[in-house]
Amino acid sequence: MCMSTRNQNLAQFQYQRLRKHRRRSIPIATYVPLVCDREGCGIALRVKAVRPASATELDVCNEVAKWKLHDLFCPAGHPILEPKIQPEWEKLVREKK
Ligand SMILES: [Zn+2]
Repeated sequence: MCMSTRNQNLAQFQYQRLRKHRRRSIPIATYVPLVCDREGCGIALRVKAVRPASATELDVCNEVAKWKLHDLFCPAGHPILEPKIQPEWEKLVREKK
């Protein structure tokens, strides 16, 4: 498949998705606080995750383990190699009814 056909198909797919969601909902953004592995640091980098309005914070929470991170650093400059959610935030989300 040539690139322009692929791009057309992609554009069409995105347009159809947009039409499907337009009447019902607008996307929402969840800011997920990720932390580095450095002991005693815990300063979170808030990563923006844009999802359909039907997605809950818990849905986002549950997918974070599968994220592939590229060159992320906590605000103190330590690398964040694995997606680790700030424990306090994760606890709040998971306990929310
Ligand atoms: Zn850090």
